[in-house]
Amino acid sequence: MDKRYKVQVKDLHKSYGSNEVLQGIDLNVAPSEVVCMIGPSGSGKSTFLRCLNRLEVPNGGHVYVDGYDIADPKVNINKVRENIGMVFQHFNLFPNMSVLDNITLAPVQLGKATKEAAEEEALRYLDLVGLREKANVNPQTLSGGQKQRVAIARALAMKPDVMLFDEPTSALDPEMVGDVLEVMKQLAKQGMTMIVVTHEMGFAKQVADRVIFFHDGKIREQGTPEEIFDHPQHPDTRNFLDKVL
Ligand code: ADP
Ligand code: MG
Repeated sequence: MDKRYKVQVKDLHKSYGSNEVLQGIDLNVAPSEVVCMIGPSGSGKSTFLRCLNRLEVPNGGHVYVDGYDIADPKVNINKVRENIGMVFQHFNLFPNMSVLDNITLAPVQLGKATKEAAEEEALRYLDLVGLREKANVNPQTLSGGQKQRVAIARALAMKPDVMLFDEPTSALDPEMVGDVLEVMKQLAKQGMTMIVVTHEMGFAKQVADRVIFFHDGKIREQGTPEEIFDHPQHPDTRNFLDKVL
C-alpha cells in the first residue's frame, strides 16, 4: 500500500458465476484527483465502484482506501464506509423526514456531531448545492435534480475523504442535469477526491484529471481528457466514442 494515494486498487477481480465482470483492475487515485470512468453498459463500472466500499466482495486483489485494506476481515468496514461518500443514480432519500434531517441523521446517529452542530453544517452543504431554502421541506416535494443535490449534501455531511458517483445524472430530466454537474464541479474545485462514472462526456472533458475507459471488465485505455477524447489509441475506445459523441 502506498500512502500517496487515497484509493489504491491492485489486480481486482470480481465474477458472478462464470461471468468475469472485473478481470484485473489496477488503479491509483491521488488526493484531490478527479477520475472519470466511461465505457459501455455492462463493462463493469458499477461493480467496480461497489467493490470500493465492499458493497460487492471481490474475488481477488486488493482495495485500499485511506490506507485500509477493505478486504481485510479485521477492518471495520462501517468505519471505512464513513469516509467514502457514494451517490447513485437513484437518490434514496428518506421520504418521511425533512431535507435537513436527511442530512443530519447519519452524523448525529454515529456521534460525529451534536444535533445543533450537524444542522449548522447541513445548512452549509445545502448552500453549496443551492438548496438552503429547502431545508425544512419533505424531499418528496423536490424535483429529481434537487433530490440528487440533497443526496450529495447528505454524503458530504459525513465528511468523506473520497466521493464515488455512479451515473448521478442519468435518471434526471435533461434540464436538471446541469445543476447537479455544477455542484460536482464545485466539489472538484474544492479539492475533493472523486471517482465519477458518467455518460456526460462534456463534464469528463472539463473536470476530469484522468479519464478511464472501461471495456469488458478491463481498463482498456486511460489518460488526460485530451488524450482520450482527442487522440484515443485503442480501437475499442474510438468505437465507443464514435457512438456517444
Ligand atoms: P456497468 O455499470 O458498466 O453498466 P455493471 O457493473 O453494472 O456494468 O455490470 C457488469 C456485468 O456484471 C453485467 O454483465 C451485469 O449483468 C453483471 N452483474 C452486475 N451485478 C450483478 C449481480 N448482482 N449479479 C449478477 N450479475 C451482475
Ligand atoms: Mg452501471
